[in-house]
Amino acid sequence: MATVGLNEVVKVYDNGVLAVQDFNLQIEDKEFIILVGPSGCGKSTVLRMIAGLESITEGEISIDGKVVNNVSAKDRDIAMVFQNYALYPHMTVYDNIAFALKMRKVPKDEIDNRVRHAAETLQLTELLDRKPKQLSGGQRQRVALGRAIVREPKVFLMDEPLSNLDAKLRVEMRVQITKLYQQLQTTIIYVTHDQTEAMTMGTRIVVMKDGIVQQVATPTDLYNLPVNLFVARFIGMPPMNTIEGRLGKDEAGLFVCAEPIGTDSKEQSTHAVDSVKLYLLPRYETEEVLAHLDRPVILGIRPEHIYMEPEDVERYSDTKLQVKAEVVEMLGAESYLYLKTQWDSNLTARINDQVHDVRYDDMITVALDPDHIHLFDYETEVSIIH
Ligand code: ADP
Repeated sequence: MATVGLNEVVKVYDNGVLAVQDFNLQIEDKEFIILVGPSGCGKSTVLRMIAGLESITEGEISIDGKVVNNVSAKDRDIAMVFQNYALYPHMTVYDNIAFALKMRKVPKDEIDNRVRHAAETLQLTELLDRKPKQLSGGQRQRVALGRAIVREPKVFLMDEPLSNLDAKLRVEMRVQITKLYQQLQTTIIYVTHDQTEAMTMGTRIVVMKDGIVQQVATPTDLYNLPVNLFVARFIGMPPMNTIEGRLGKDEAGLFVCAEPIGTDSKEQSTHAVDSVKLYLLPRYETEEVLAHLDRPVILGIRPEHIYMEPEDVERYSDTKLQVKAEVVEMLGAESYLYLKTQWDSNLTARINDQVHDVRYDDMITVALDPDHIHLFDYETEVSIIH
């Protein structure tokens, strides 16, 4: 049972690297918090500061309301699971799991109880007599988890614990960790660069970039209402499509006139490209959106919100566009279509079926689901819809 608070936390390393800036987060008891972001964004630094393995340059970290800035790692009642399992190679699984308890002089019977209970939870009972080198990667990672569980810490910290495992095992261990979380009912803070892990396991996700928190939200909110283009494109696979254009308005309503903004306008005019107006629903006519009239914007649309069935294209005729098919990937339950617009942008559509009738170079008409259009300011890349 523990809450964790980070208040205006800053980390500057001795070499001058500003790794974390103004980090604020209140973690409630029993939350499964994920810190996610690209490599080097400061996730591990935050975790290591919570663990007490790294000093805090500015700000405060508290556990259960008590400031721990000057409390040593071993007195923080925290267990950490790392990417490299760091098991003792000469000890059996049993002894590896029991080690921390022995060091704390926990009575032998109780150690035995806790080790056997953890082994059962993690399906390690049959393996208790083995040495680490006789285990698979997934089994070793389970031993590392077992070693953390038996300590019954207030908070579990996990730093990319699955990144050394192959894809299939990662999926299995993801489910295992989620089950473990449900059983233990304890606070977990988990670092990963993998958006799928973040989305599938977290109760709340903290997206970081360059040492700065971008957004803190539940997986659903993060997916549906990303606050900026970075979050929008980082969360979701394949990533959200973006279409540059200018915001306009005519008698039919507000629209984005799709055109590449970044390129030279003279060069553009030599391309005979019909302008494509993608109309927005009336509910998008907010003050904030209208403030962008005649200005460049970025329209975002997730791959599953691009449709190609004729009845959908007809229904959404205000947001249809002609595209050229480049690649069709059939994944069984769904297909990914890689498409090129007339103005040479790439779009990916995700179709909930197997797509057999589209070939390389085919021109097809697709439509965007107007209910799921995102809009971002071109300069700041901040979302202008809420
Ligand atoms: P992440 O976990 O997101 O990959 P880190 O927290 O490891 O990121 O690193 C954040 C930044 O701090 C990076 O620029 C990294 O190079 C730098 N950094 C990490 N550890 C140290 C260190 N011990 N000394 C100096 N710079 C470091």
